[in-house]
Amino acid sequence: MTRLFALLIFAAAACSSEPTVLFTVTDTDFSKGYRMHEQQVTLDDLARFHGHLCDGLVVGALAMDQVMKQMYPNEAIDRTNLRVVSAPSPCLTDVAIYLTGGRYQFNSFYVDSDPGGIYVVQRIDNGESFRVRMREGIKPSEIDSLGALAVLRKLSPAELDHLKALEDDFTDFLLASKPEDLFIVEPLDDFTWQPRLKNDFIKTDVLNKDRK
Ligand SMILES: [Zn+2]
Repeated sequence: MTRLFALLIFAAAACSSEPTVLFTVTDTDFSKGYRMHEQQVTLDDLARFHGHLCDGLVVGALAMDQVMKQMYPNEAIDRTNLRVVSAPSPCLTDVAIYLTGGRYQFNSFYVDSDPGGIYVVQRIDNGESFRVRMREGIKPSEIDSLGALAVLRKLSPAELDHLKALEDDFTDFLLASKPEDLFIVEPLDDFTWQPRLKNDFIKTDVLNKDRK
């Protein structure tokens, strides 16, 4: 069958100036089926799964795109053949499992507090592995400093609004940038898959949910 390109396509959305981020993935065609079902995944799909559109979600999507350009150049992303290690962010982990098909219960996904970047992605069939990390100085430091206070629930509603505005501006910046200018992808020749049974990471995106 004809393979579609897995590369990101940025196109003007019909009703707004926001670009659309698009992936082509391939899966099996039914519960016991063949790997022959291609479909497209958008940033909107990721946002619905995750719960919101945020800068972390866009960072994850663009970082994964950069890995897939190395791993599946001009091909659909094979979600039957990947496993992934993710940094612990709830936004990054949701992108990781959605776009790779990796799942903890099948030994194809785990979280590492410091994987040396955002993700390490490995092809299961040949062991080919890549790490992706963000270039220095891309993310405004104020997002991290205010984010740390938000996790401690030390931001007022107005300060949370300010943090959201900063993150939204960063999201717009990311979507307007060339992903290759944002991330560094490196092959890992000696990567060892070492899943950890760690499940006490803090889900930071719900800590302030009960706004006073
Ligand atoms: Zn998020």
